[in-house]
Amino acid sequence: MYVFLNNMIVPEANAVVSVYDHGFLYGDGIYETMRAYDGIVFMFEKHLERLARSASFLKLNIPDRQYIRDAVYKTLSANELSDAYIRITVSRGKGPIGLDIDLCRETTFVVISEKFRQYPESCYQEGTRLILAKTRRNLVEAVNPKIKSLNFLNNILAKMEAKEKGAYEAVMLNSDGFIAEGTTSNIFFVNENTLCTPSSDAGILDGITRDTVINVAKKNGIEVKEGMFYPADLLGSTEVFFTNTTAEVMPVSCVEDVRFGIGEITQALRRLYRKEVERYVNELRAKS
Ligand code: PMP
Repeated sequence: MYVFLNNMIVPEANAVVSVYDHGFLYGDGIYETMRAYDGIVFMFEKHLERLARSASFLKLNIPDRQYIRDAVYKTLSANELSDAYIRITVSRGKGPIGLDIDLCRETTFVVISEKFRQYPESCYQEGTRLILAKTRRNLVEAVNPKIKSLNFLNNILAKMEAKEKGAYEAVMLNSDGFIAEGTTSNIFFVNENTLCTPSSDAGILDGITRDTVINVAKKNGIEVKEGMFYPADLLGSTEVFFTNTTAEVMPVSCVEDVRFGIGEITQALRRLYRKEVERYVNELRAKS
């Protein structure tokens, strides 16, 4: 595979970063995960906006949008990929030991892409297992979950809990005990035919898939409630799913030991999300 590293496409073996990079030393940096369908990066603009928001939290200089767009498409083309997983990483860069951001003169900018590996169809047909993690989501006032940062230990600790219990994903609560989000996903559930999901105030990453799902749900007459929910609301619901860029709409069959069927709203949203992807890709293709 080829990697875009600081202005150059290089073979993976040469895509190396200094041990003095503050991304490595301190987790000081940000990233985005995107998905290309048939050569088109879905919701590219929204990912660029979120990257810029993350960067501004950290006062991190990132290249301009056109540069990033070109870097991503160059990486896809170097790897001859059309259905791909793409990751942009921007770190503070190389500098002497120390936390002062001015120790680093130039950020490190990386684009990785790989052939997209579909989740097993059985996950979508049978649903996945979730647990409620003991690890709480980072406080908004500590490391705001809105920053998609390289500082990912909070999520890794919760994912370790899921793995220990043989579950796929862990639901993290915020410090007040309200549901926040998964380790790499946003959580949805259905209560009396209303689609519920933790609001931004719960301290979550504003998922781009979450946003798309909310929009298609509203457009199709499904009532949506963004709010503060307790685990009991989730456990007492009739359908549960989680969302992210790679899994799209992923049904859940079990949270702890409570079982859920893959209900009509989940199935409808899975289809509607796919249609939205098709519409987006076709529209962009027609313009180019
Ligand atoms: N929350 C967290 C903590 C995540 O890492 C992700 C994955 N980026 C999401 C939510 C879902 O975001 P998106 O739909 O933009 O992939």
